[in-house]
Amino acid sequence: MKRALIVVDVQNDFCEGGALAVGGGAATAYSIAEVLKQWQDADPPDRVYDYVVATRDHHIDPGEHFSDNPDYVTSWPPHCVANTDGAAFHPNLDPQPFDAIFNKGEYSSGYSGFEGTAQNGLGMADWLRTHDVTHVEIVGIATDHCVRATALDAAHHGFNTQVTLDLTAGVAPDTTNRALHDMRAAGVRLRGEPVVRAA
Ligand SMILES: [Zn+2]
Repeated sequence: MKRALIVVDVQNDFCEGGALAVGGGAATAYSIAEVLKQWQDADPPDRVYDYVVATRDHHIDPGEHFSDNPDYVTSWPPHCVANTDGAAFHPNLDPQPFDAIFNKGEYSSGYSGFEGTAQNGLGMADWLRTHDVTHVEIVGIATDHCVRATALDAAHHGFNTQVTLDLTAGVAPDTTNRALHDMRAAGVRLRGEPVVRAA
């Protein structure tokens, strides 16, 4: 039984000043970095997580996910284009001691980290199983979109799944509330209070 922390999409474009900014994104990046710092400084036997991994929205040509007239439901302004500054991790996310980084959404919407692949080509479910991970804790941006999709997939894949809401940021209150409901219904454990702030 091993535990992994999954840090979802803490990227410049999803934080204040980015192309698709989520209110509270930069503060969430800072809070997650505090957790990563403690993890890194602890001796391996004392660590809360056996592994820490991250996902990155990494768009090349994601089709209707991008629009010049986005509806903010299924289409969005261009964001996190591969190899641009917008796709980079936010500078508040320091350190970045990730055992794997999963890029997702090259040619699709890629909401879920489970659609991503690591540098070695493994998908997230296979990577976690290869490392004997049974429990995952999910944090990051945005609660109502990529955190939600990643948590639902984690539960569907049979992982014991927790979302730590204090370390998330949501786009809007109604979609965040709906996401909390969907995650709870799927058996995801929710801890802490959701963060939703105006961008
Ligand atoms: Zn995207």
